[in-house]
Amino acid sequence: MRGIFLIFIISFVNISLAIADTFPGEQSVGFYSAGSLVNSEITPAAGKGYVVLYPAREKNFSSKELRTLVEGSTNEMADRFPGLDRIQLGDFSANSGGFLAGHASHQNGLDADLSYFRVDHREQIPGTGDGFDESFVVDGKITPNFDSRRNWELIQFMVSSGIVTRIFVDPMIKHTLCQWAGTDQNQSITETLRVLRPYSNHRAHMHVRIACPKESPRCTAQVPPPPGDGCGEVETNSFGIIPSLAERLFLKIVGTEIPE
Ligand SMILES: [Zn+2]
Repeated sequence: MRGIFLIFIISFVNISLAIADTFPGEQSVGFYSAGSLVNSEITPAAGKGYVVLYPAREKNFSSKELRTLVEGSTNEMADRFPGLDRIQLGDFSANSGGFLAGHASHQNGLDADLSYFRVDHREQIPGTGDGFDESFVVDGKITPNFDSRRNWELIQFMVSSGIVTRIFVDPMIKHTLCQWAGTDQNQSITETLRVLRPYSNHRAHMHVRIACPKESPRCTAQVPPPPGDGCGEVETNSFGIIPSLAERLFLKIVGTEIPE
């Protein structure tokens, strides 16, 4: 019995070593809501254009692709809008990925929660409260403190990287950004709006999701959002926002978006 157990252990170690040899750069494994993270990288507690909200939680591990995207984008915004409020970063993933308290996804190092830019330039103080402390949709309406210009520029810059597959925002925030972008759209604007996915519980933060990195062959991809800007799905009427038939059909086929 002990012999069999030993053979099992040796085989397991051999398989593990073989996987490590085959995919030396591998980081993201599995799906956003059922995955893990190998060779993770951690985003430092503060850098140009950003600050981590809860560094003591140690939930800012990710793939290097996500870290590069977030740091590159916050850097860029600091250059475009010098001296203003920095982006506050919420949870990414745990050191080795897997289940993260308070989230259904964030498991394979490809999801990150970011604060929105504010008109009053206030920054939430790291370590305070237990989540993002300002909602930008109150009573179904966008608040005056939502900085459409800078949020749009940040989102458009991130999407221009070509690796962002979804950014979850409250439906009213997508509606606001659809109006900001206007109807005279070029391909880059349409693509940015397509990636913006309307989902509740994103009134205080946006959730950025990137595609499976090339170096992570065991990462499971998600069905891309439907073509088009999707602005028709967040049209408002006196009842608020009503999802269109196309959007409901997409969700029925694809299943839940698994945003958090
Ligand atoms: Zn999230």
